[in-house]
Formats: sequence, structure tokens, C-alpha cells
Amino acid sequence: MSKKKLTSAFGKPVGNDISSETAGAKGPTLMNDAHLMEKLAHFDRERIPERVVHAKGAGAYGYFEVTADVSKYTKAAFLSEVGKKTEVVARFSTVGGEKGSADSERDPRGFAVKFYTEEGNYDMVGNNTPVFFIRDAMKFPDFIHTQKRHPATNCKDPDMFWDFLSLTPESIHQVTVLFSDRGTPATYRNMNGYSSHTYKWYNEKGEYFWVQYHFKTDQGISNFTGEEADAMRGKDPDHATRDLYESIEKGDYPSWTLEMQILTPEQAEKLRWDIFDITKVWPHSEVPPITVGKLVLNRNPVNYFAEIEQAAFSPANFVPGITASPDKMLQGRLFSYHDTHIHRLGPNYHLIPVNRPKNSPEMSYQRDAFMRVDDGGGSGPNYWPNSFGGPAPDESANEPPLPIEGQATRHAYELVDDDFVQPGNLYRDVMTEQDRANLVRNIVGHLGGAQKRIQLRQTALFYKADKDYGTRVAQGLGLDVGEVEKLAAMTQEERAAATA
Ligand code: NDP
Repeated sequence: MSKKKLTSAFGKPVGNDISSETAGAKGPTLMNDAHLMEKLAHFDRERIPERVVHAKGAGAYGYFEVTADVSKYTKAAFLSEVGKKTEVVARFSTVGGEKGSADSERDPRGFAVKFYTEEGNYDMVGNNTPVFFIRDAMKFPDFIHTQKRHPATNCKDPDMFWDFLSLTPESIHQVTVLFSDRGTPATYRNMNGYSSHTYKWYNEKGEYFWVQYHFKTDQGISNFTGEEADAMRGKDPDHATRDLYESIEKGDYPSWTLEMQILTPEQAEKLRWDIFDITKVWPHSEVPPITVGKLVLNRNPVNYFAEIEQAAFSPANFVPGITASPDKMLQGRLFSYHDTHIHRLGPNYHLIPVNRPKNSPEMSYQRDAFMRVDDGGGSGPNYWPNSFGGPAPDESANEPPLPIEGQATRHAYELVDDDFVQPGNLYRDVMTEQDRANLVRNIVGHLGGAQKRIQLRQTALFYKADKDYGTRVAQGLGLDVGEVEKLAAMTQEERAAATA
């Protein structure tokens, strides 16, 4: 038997942890049994709200090492010299499913990295896809609802899924990535991570650059086909979680090479694509990526709940030298991640050890609130300005100014090109014939569950991206290709009316 003594939550030794205290051998249980009451009451409160998105995930610790001099682009201290290493925690996840859902579901994968830098925590909160379904945060709750359960049946619903997407043509690029086999990565180790958004880097002189992050897997890309993913869902719904843990446990540490695409503001003006539109990539031929570092994961969490379930990432966590771009999807995320963590973990979630800025301790005037578990600022002043030696703002932490002009109103994205060029390029120029065949099969298997009018509306979008793409999906679904072609020639409003 263990020599460690069992205690209550408050440290009182426990004499018996098997039998409740009852009135007689067969009598009712006594309220006097404080140990039982405490044990049950804590159990009753074990669950915290799961994330509304990215609920199912796995994570590990490691480090990021700089391998190229990027100091002319950013003054971020953790990127300041070649060879510099920074501790990280990373979390990978599916997006739409609940905490108990399968790792092999067709879904984008979250790819979040928290860098514990000497200037505070920096979070890079990306996905395994370089683009996204929508480009304005206003649409995000609606989009996510369509990926969740139907209000009446409580089942996933192909009508909801495809109705929204077919009425949201900018989604076509991400839909094409998602329904390729990249939508079902074989493991978390075998996928890339992308910032997807454009961010701003700025240097000591105040010069700024627009950048995108690409963490390229050193394990190589490996995906399941649709059939393999379906089989894995039944065989081991936690296969990717298990794979990450077991590889690290046996010393086979996964790593990613960080490549950056970097543009000066002048270069960005000349680029054909809107760099703040997350449904577009920057073609590599126009903006060649440069290698800047290596991410290695080499330590498993000891306690999943404490260290990974409670790990809270926010794209608003920047350090000097890195900041946001005006990407409208990113702008919404800057608010929403912090807000959801306050809801899930409480206003002092930054004190949970995995979230604590351990290499740049908090020195703020924020006080109190639930679960303030440190000295809460002690006896120091709780207001600014003060003349009692409290922490003072440092102007050098300010971002360089960004010139903005225009009218404050609800602007739609001004398209310099339509939304179908890049998915068409992906289908024609990047995918192999096998990739295209799998893509069409995966789409037909899913879209086939939606109403015919929705199938037609969505297939017209595939047709607009590429005639062969739309034709093959139409044939797979048994649709009239002529009807699809006619719908593809209409404006989005006309098409919506014709398929209402
Ligand atoms: P490139 O040929 O230079 O790059 C193509 C990229 O596509 C590679 O990074 C490759 O990633 C990735 N890729 C291969 N298969 C798929 C797939 N099924 N789904 C998503 N990505 C895939 O071309 P461009 O830069 O001109 O871009 C062409 C298209 O490639 C884009 O429209 C976009 O859909 C896709 N793409 C582009 C990226 C970019 O940042 N430019 C990034 C990722 C995809 P890998 O090297 O890891 O195999």
C-alpha cells in the first residue's frame, strides 16, 4: 500500500475512502460525512465549459529556435538572433466537433503555439490550412452554427452545412482544401500550420512589413483518404492525440520548419491579391517564403486538464515587433479568444501556470476577480498614474502608426479578382489526378446528403472554379451538367433566387 497519506481538499487526513457514514449498517447516509459531501460536490463541478470551437485537442511543450537573421524585419526579442531558443506550448485540434469527437473528422485542424518570450507571451493561433471559409468575423457565429448540430434533430446536417457555404462563395477555396485529403491529416505531426492571416512585423526603426507564417512539417505531409478517416473514427477516435503523446514519449520529437512570406507595404500595394483577405494565399512564385526557424515538441504534459485543456491561446497576445493587420476576420478574433477564455476559465486565466507569462511576469493595475490566486499586486498602488513606484508604461512598446483613411461604415471586401481563381489553380495546377479524384469523391459523399437545389447551387461554385471540377462533382451527384453550367453563369443573387 502507498505510504502517502490521503487527505481532504483542505489537508485533513482521511480514515476511510470506501464506505459512506450511515445510520446503522443498512441505514441512510449521514450529512455528518463531510468527506463524502466534499468528494461528491467537487465531482459535480468537474466539467468546465468546452471550447465552442476547437474543443477536441492535444498538446505538448517544446522550443522554437531562430535559424535566420530577421532583425531587419522585426524587433521581437525572441527572434533577435540566430540560435536563440524560446520555450513553447502547442495545441492541435479539430474545430467543429465536441470534446469527445473523433480526431479523424474532416475539418480544419487548429495549430496554436504559445511562445513564452522575455517580452510576454506571444500566441500564433493558426490552422493547417492557409485560407479560411469567410473573411469577416460578422459571419463567424453563423458559419460555426452550420457545422454544429441541427436545432431540432441534434444531428450534423448536410443541408445546413452546404446551404451556408453555397450562399457564401468566398468559402470555395477553403472548401476545396477541406475536401481534399488535407481535410483528414493522418496525424497532427504530419500537417503544416499556417497563420492564414496576414500579420504586421516592425523593426527598431519603426519600418513595418506584412507577413504570413508557414510551419512546414518535417515529418512530411500524410493524409487519410476519406475511407481511411472513416475507418479510423471507429477504430480509434483519439488516434491523433495518442500519436502525438506516444511519439514524444518514445523520443521521436515532431518538428516544423518556420517559413515566412514577407512584404514591404510598397510590395503589398502592387500584389494582385488583397493581403487582408484570408480566403486568398500569396502565391509562392510572387512572394517566395524564407526559412527563419524550427519548432520542436519534446515534452508531454503531465496532466492533460491542467496543462492542455486549460491552455488558452489568443491571437491578440502580441509582443513588441509583431502586431495585427486589418484583416477583418483577425480583428474579430482579437476580441473573441480572450473573451471566450474569460467565460471558460475565468478573468484570471492568465494565472493558470500554462498561461502565465513566466518569462515576463505580469506588472499591471488589473486587480481582484474570481480565482486571483497570487498576491494580487500586494500592497502596491492599484491605479495609474501614481507616485508610489508602480509600473510605468514604456513608449518604446508602442506600434508604428498605420495610415488609414476612409468612411466608417459597413464595407464589403472590394475584390481585385474573383474568389474562384485560386481554388481553380489549386485544382488544376497543384493537385495530382489522384488528389482530384479523391476530392470529388469526398465532396459527392457529403454534398449528396443535402437537398438537390443546394447541391446545384454548390456545384455551380465548383464549376466556376474549374469546369472539369464542377462537371465531375455534378456527374458524381447525378446532376444535369447543363443546369449547373447555367447556374454558374448567373450572379450570386440570381443563383440564390433560382435555387431558393
Ligand atoms: P505552389 O505550387 O508554389 O504551392 C502550392 C502549395 O500547395 C504547396 O505549399 C503545397 O504544400 C500545397 N498543397 C499541395 N496540395 C494541397 C492541397 N490538396 N490542399 C492545400 N494545399 C496543398 O503554388 P502557389 O503558391 O501558387 O499556390 C497555388 C495554390 O496552392 C493556392 O491557390 C493554394 O490553394 C495552395 N497553397 C498555397 C500556399 C501559399 O501560401 N502560396 C500554401 C498552401 C497551399 P506543401 O509544400 O506543404 O506540400
